[in-house]
Amino acid sequence: MLPYSYKVRGTVWIFLYLFFVLAPLFVLLTGSLPPPRDFWTEFSAAIGYAGLAIMGLQFGLTARFRYVTEPWGEDVIYHFHRQISLLGVGLVVAHPLILFAVRPELVALLNSIRAPWRARFAALSVYSLVALVVMALWREKLKIRYETWHLTHILLSIIAVTAGLLHMLGWGFYLTDTRKRVLWIALAIFWIGLLLYVRVAKPLFMLRRPYRISEVRKERGDTSTLVMHPDGHPGFRFSPGQFAWLTVWGSPFKITGHPFSFASSAAVTDGSVEMTIRNLGDFTSEIQKVPVGKRVYLDGPYGAFTIGNPADMHVLIAGGIGITPMISMIRTLADRRDTRPVTLLYGNEDWESITFREELEALKARLNLTVVYVLTDPSDGWTGERGFITAEVFKRHLRPPYGEHEYFICGPNVMMDAIEKALGEMHVPQSKYHSERYSFV
Ligand SMILES: Cc1cc2nc3c(=O)[nH]c(=O)nc-3n(C[C@H](O)[C@H](O)[C@H](O)COP(=O)(O)OP(=O)(O)OC[C@H]3O[C@@H](n4cnc5c(N)ncnc54)[C@H](O)[C@@H]3O)c2cc1C
Repeated sequence: MLPYSYKVRGTVWIFLYLFFVLAPLFVLLTGSLPPPRDFWTEFSAAIGYAGLAIMGLQFGLTARFRYVTEPWGEDVIYHFHRQISLLGVGLVVAHPLILFAVRPELVALLNSIRAPWRARFAALSVYSLVALVVMALWREKLKIRYETWHLTHILLSIIAVTAGLLHMLGWGFYLTDTRKRVLWIALAIFWIGLLLYVRVAKPLFMLRRPYRISEVRKERGDTSTLVMHPDGHPGFRFSPGQFAWLTVWGSPFKITGHPFSFASSAAVTDGSVEMTIRNLGDFTSEIQKVPVGKRVYLDGPYGAFTIGNPADMHVLIAGGIGITPMISMIRTLADRRDTRPVTLLYGNEDWESITFREELEALKARLNLTVVYVLTDPSDGWTGERGFITAEVFKRHLRPPYGEHEYFICGPNVMMDAIEKALGEMHVPQSKYHSERYSFV
């Protein structure tokens, strides 16, 4: 359940968001007004303005303001960023389409050679937005590398929003009034400020607070743990289950950082942090080769996937590398000498690839911990759970009433969908389970 302060803060941010989308629109209706036009022309202009305001605010949604994202968690914000962008792009694209329908002579503006600059900017903005959406929705199908996509995504969004603004200013009409022009230009400066904050101010801050790799530990399941110590600063405190963006090669100004959960105990006081990383792609395959002493950068902590609420029992459900936030929770509870029962349901392929297996067994001596291994490909003679974690597995290992425990789920998307469904079938209220998805995109 969300703490009360988060609920209040979340509500304030929602109102602020709506204010920034709608207020610039209503300001257009104040002061001296241009001659009225037909309903559809006015409607099309209104959705064009609103669409652009939504797109501009996208820079804020991805700016990783901890104070803003805390009530929901970063994954929810990214999900919202994706969904709301579809609405924003839809509004921007509908704007010219409605105009073409009610005033067919405007179709001639599509001829970018003869069209005035204000129409060319409009076309550039719309084409960039369409490219942005296509690449975001079908990046994997189009076989575009994550890093290439990320850079293109940022460039296209800057082009789309700038061109949209130049189109608006060039067209004038509602913006012939100097006060309103100033307001929209100030808004654009605010959007650019958000971008500069993420791409310049934040990296500068990280540059001054580097970390050093003090150990690279091999783990079971093609996985390595990086142990990092703050270099010349005290580090930060995190809550178990939270994560940070890690930059290993290059400076913090690099466009793409990679998110990883903290695996270490949050009770450690020397500022050191550990991340346990599975070899799954270009970046992660290089982790085992990171030399000790290397300088790295962390942007964090982030995320709302964390323990802290009083619950009679914590149920942790991990699939594969989804164990990392759970091991941080378990290590922290052990360090805090917490006596509440913890049940870990841990899905893996086989016995040999279970990351942290030995440590989990050892932790049972320090904690009221039950570990249920669920294997999809066990060897002959395995007597434990096999297949996937289902409602039946829950019922065999948890005591009712199921709705009173606090559930934490992290693993592949398909597993998480199935578990959320199973919890629904067991009448566990949504407020009692927390999910961390390892795919924001
Ligand atoms: C909140 C969070 C916590 C995570 N914690 C862990 C962890 O503790 N241990 C662990 O091994 N993995 C973790 N991951 C997953 C990890 O971030 C990706 O596996 C890694 O970034 C993939 O990079 P790659 O270049 O090796 O793989 P690629 O082959 O380049 O990418 C594989 C897929 O990973 C995703 N991805 C790639 N880069 C990024 C990025 N910069 N940001 C978001 N998604 C990306 C994309 O969907 C991509 O298709 C976490 C992810 C998130 C979102």
